[in-house]
Amino acid sequence: MAEKAAEFNPEVFKKTSDEKMSARLKMWLEMCAHCGLCADTCHYYLANEQDPKMMPAYKAKKVLDAIKKKGKIDEATLNSLYETVYGECTMCRRCTMFCPFGIDVASIISMARGLCVSQGKVPENLVKVIENYFAHGNQMALTQEDWIETLKWMEEELQEELPGATIPIDKKGANLLYTVNAREPKFYPMDIAHAVRVFHIAGEDWTMSSKGWDDTNLAMFAGDLKSAAYVSQLVRDAAEELEVKRVAITE
Ligand code: SF4
Ligand code: SF4
Repeated sequence: MAEKAAEFNPEVFKKTSDEKMSARLKMWLEMCAHCGLCADTCHYYLANEQDPKMMPAYKAKKVLDAIKKKGKIDEATLNSLYETVYGECTMCRRCTMFCPFGIDVASIISMARGLCVSQGKVPENLVKVIENYFAHGNQMALTQEDWIETLKWMEEELQEELPGATIPIDKKGANLLYTVNAREPKFYPMDIAHAVRVFHIAGEDWTMSSKGWDDTNLAMFAGDLKSAAYVSQLVRDAAEELEVKRVAITE
């Protein structure tokens, strides 16, 4: 897996793990009974011929072992942790549904991703999309002009079928602010038109924003919580500026 290169810093690793290790995470990591009930629920385990290393509990133990070393881990261990947390878990939480203790492996993996972030170890493509949020306000690097043009285009398409249907942009005080996945305007603009059709027929009082409209947060997926807070704030700012009552997200 391609990654952003950086110097390994054991002190920062320890400091970050101390900061991130909440009582709940500690409890989850320590209470696993290794019963294996979660194994069959993980798609990685099933897709890899039931490799024990793909069991959710094994992955959680790997995180625990790394933390217990209190920063005294070598680069090979960190690399192995990196491969596991980014390449062997999608943080889907399916295993948690089947664990008798409700151990949240996804949260454990998310925390460990944060540890990797502290060492600059993030998949290269994720680094790029996080940069896009900062530069363009959305993960696909769409300009505001492209975004508005796409909305106008979808409005025109829809009006052929539903005369009078509009996409209100930056309408103040609407009941609903509708936000989308930035992949929609980029690759599937008709998905936006489908939602507009529903709002129009339902007579909803709604709007879309000219900025802060991407409701994805791949910084959170990467475990980069500082950037994730910035990304969430973009939508929050749009909602506050437009004084809407609610925010709706796509899908
Ligand atoms: S959260 Fe991770 S370990 Fe658990 S089932 Fe999903 S992919 Fe597997
Ligand atoms: S089901 Fe829960 S307790 Fe059993 S191995 Fe999986 S995570 Fe551990």
